[in-house]
Amino acid sequence: MSKLTIRGGSAVRKKYVYFFDEGNAEMRDLLGGKGANLCEMTRIGLPVPPGFVISTEACIHYFENGKKFPEELWDQVMAALARVESETGKKFGDEERPLLVSVRSGAKVSMPGMMDTVLNLGLNDETVETLSRIAGNQRFAYDCYRRFMQMFGNVVMEVKKDLFEHALSDLKDKKGYKYDTELTPVDLRELVDTFKGIVKKESGQEFPSQPLKQLEMAIRAVFESWYNPRAITYRKINEIPETLGTAVNVQTMVFGNMGENSGTGVAFTRDPSTGEKKLYGEYLLNAQGEDVVAGIRTPQPLEKLKDELLEAYDKLAGIMDTLEQHYEDMQDLEFTIEEGKLYMLQTRVGKRTAAAALKIAVDMVEEGLIDKKTAVMRIDPSQLDQLLHPCIDPNADFQVLTKGLNASPGAAMGKVVFHADTAEEMGKAGEMVILVRWETTPDDIHGLVQSQGILTSHGGMTSHAAVVARGMGKPCVCGAEEVKIDYASKSCRVKDVVIREGDIITIDGTTGRVILGEVPLIPPMINEDFRRLLAWADEIRKLGVRANADTPEDAARSRDFEAEGIGLCRTEHMFMAEDRLPHVQAAILAKTDEERAEPLQKLLKMQKEDFAAILKAMNGLPVTIRLLDPPLHEFLPNLGDLRVEVAELKHRGASLEELAAKEELLANVRTLSEANPMLGLRGCRLGITRPDIYQMQVRAIFEAACDVVEEGYEPVVEVMIPLVGIDKELALLKESTEKVIHQVFEERGIRIGYKIGTMIELPRAALTADEIAKHAEFFSFGTNDLTQTTFGFSRDDAEGKFIPEYVELGILEKNPFEVLDTEGVGKLIDMAVKLSRQVRPDIKLGVCGEHGGEPKSIKFCHQVGLTYVSCSPFRVPLARLAAAQAVVEEEREVFIDK
Ligand code: PEP
Ligand code: MG
Repeated sequence: MSKLTIRGGSAVRKKYVYFFDEGNAEMRDLLGGKGANLCEMTRIGLPVPPGFVISTEACIHYFENGKKFPEELWDQVMAALARVESETGKKFGDEERPLLVSVRSGAKVSMPGMMDTVLNLGLNDETVETLSRIAGNQRFAYDCYRRFMQMFGNVVMEVKKDLFEHALSDLKDKKGYKYDTELTPVDLRELVDTFKGIVKKESGQEFPSQPLKQLEMAIRAVFESWYNPRAITYRKINEIPETLGTAVNVQTMVFGNMGENSGTGVAFTRDPSTGEKKLYGEYLLNAQGEDVVAGIRTPQPLEKLKDELLEAYDKLAGIMDTLEQHYEDMQDLEFTIEEGKLYMLQTRVGKRTAAAALKIAVDMVEEGLIDKKTAVMRIDPSQLDQLLHPCIDPNADFQVLTKGLNASPGAAMGKVVFHADTAEEMGKAGEMVILVRWETTPDDIHGLVQSQGILTSHGGMTSHAAVVARGMGKPCVCGAEEVKIDYASKSCRVKDVVIREGDIITIDGTTGRVILGEVPLIPPMINEDFRRLLAWADEIRKLGVRANADTPEDAARSRDFEAEGIGLCRTEHMFMAEDRLPHVQAAILAKTDEERAEPLQKLLKMQKEDFAAILKAMNGLPVTIRLLDPPLHEFLPNLGDLRVEVAELKHRGASLEELAAKEELLANVRTLSEANPMLGLRGCRLGITRPDIYQMQVRAIFEAACDVVEEGYEPVVEVMIPLVGIDKELALLKESTEKVIHQVFEERGIRIGYKIGTMIELPRAALTADEIAKHAEFFSFGTNDLTQTTFGFSRDDAEGKFIPEYVELGILEKNPFEVLDTEGVGKLIDMAVKLSRQVRPDIKLGVCGEHGGEPKSIKFCHQVGLTYVSCSPFRVPLARLAAAQAVVEEEREVFIDK
């Protein structure tokens, strides 16, 4: 909604600039996250240096109008600046009391380090002298000035960062210094002159000395940074819309570098790694913002501040408590202490690991701060994956090479690479890589995405690598200082061990350990917080959650994850086993029913054992067993390979018998092979044309069920017929299936309840769901095939061939094999749900395609009223949570609509 202000009683002018006391936390869309929270902190009376926010609408206007500021903007900036001046008693460019400001970006959604910031704006050759006089510290003033030139030169005037860095290190070398702090005021003055020269040479312009000019250029640069490559990549990965734009925060500078009673730091109200309730953070005395993350000096843990500046510490601890109570969530904040006085520069909801998110959500419910539904909404379902990451087997034997900080949990193994580009290249080629860097910067984002884990030799828990890895749920070890990297030779040395690019290492982000070579990894344990939160999710959700499981091990794992049954047991996986394939092939190649009987009998015995084990593991819970689906030739040797083998036999002069057998096999495979096997003789078509295979499977299922009943178990069997498109297919197969079931019951003198249903994975099946439902007690939407057949996209090829390009071009919003296409495929599902319930109101409806484990698709399944989703066992926790979130979101949407 746009805000309008009436000026001068008549003209209606749009308001683009908000003083910090004119906004609040609700105004994120307009003021960005940082701006809205600066306003909120001002509103609740916290010590925030005065300033104002230029709205995201100004940024949007800028890009929509050929990169021009809105007409009203500058007047409003000047008015806000005048107010800052009157509140601080300082003046822009003043030689007595110069005002310095920071200019920072701030989008609605936090994009750490992706856009630009300029500090100390307002300095020039005159104001630097005044600052020096007021502070009584020439070194401080010139240090601010050279930092400003460096930042402004790079961010606003686009001069390469390295040029400034090199000039700085050249000067230090010349003077024989090790640390920046050794630079004298005279040195810094010399550096400022060198920087001016660099700017002039590189940009062709003088460094601007007018503070207002500097401000205008900085605002423009922050707008422009919305489209820098880092920000574009970050938005793409995090699905942040381009249309949001960034706000610009202009705020009075406070100085953490005014001596030993000044400092700056970052803090979390709870430990972002573990969730433990304690003040957590890092600070540096006599330093400015970027020093904490730049890694030139090692930041101190926050508790130490108590010994150094007790008053500021106590004040900070009180504010952290206030903020957490106020926002009812863990906060991540930035502060500066200027000569003993504390100022708040930022607060936002803190990013956290999945383990921390769970602990914080559960603890906050216990503390009475939030309710269970809020707690359930606080966990990102895909973040749960982090907890399910492998960790190092505690019984494994290995030697720890070195240790760093345990920056992001989980263990990862891979080939060492030293450059983000190499990580991207190898990662995309399917290699597992560990990116090893001195430290990472936002420019490395593409490499981080493709790495299994990240190891840095420098930087703390709040360094870029740590923050980004936690967000992505990737294992990360930071600040492993014994790792000495030599980028030029693509190697690193840890004590006397040399690791070259391509060598394998294992990192453990939970403990900070770095290990040479491979180490056995095991899936992590699910802790009590995890169980409690998911139990709350179970209370809330309406959708059932089942697992796709084909083996007794998968079935057991499904139960561990509290799946409510098996929604899809694909029997073809059992056919593929090495010891079974010869019998499967013999059955396929048999010429007569009699010939086929023997191998089928062998398979019957094996399948019966499989089914019995699965039914036992799932005792009392439904198990949906799908009859054979893929085309038969998939079980036979490859046609091309066979041709080569026949040619070789001929060439080698093999015996006539051997050659004839191979040629017969070749002829058989040729007969069975199809131009479009996905659309060919598979699923129920196979069951109809080769009835003895399905009959064998049904017999195996029910003999197994009778066996386990005799052992005292309670099998709940659902037989699922795949790829039905015509109601008569199902009617026919239902009849033959029931015939076998009753034969088995007769033979065994046992009767067991069962259901027969079908998969809906063809558009025709969805369109005629009312007819099909007459013969089916349940439907399971096979959204993999339904996506394939609705789009006419081959599920084997499309994702590798053109879908990424379609997504890039915006033709598709998402890969529809990953996230359900609700508009097309979803429409068919919705239609089938309604049609089927017309004829069979109590029909059970589920999804068992990959979408059953994807949060957005799960939400859709809830909305159309399905009974359950079924997904891989490891995704079950995620699905339980996503199903609960769908309910809460729906309730909240209804509430908002009212
Ligand atoms: C489906 O098509 O969605 C499905 C679950 O079956 P499959 O992936 O085995 O074809
Ligand atoms: Mg299918």
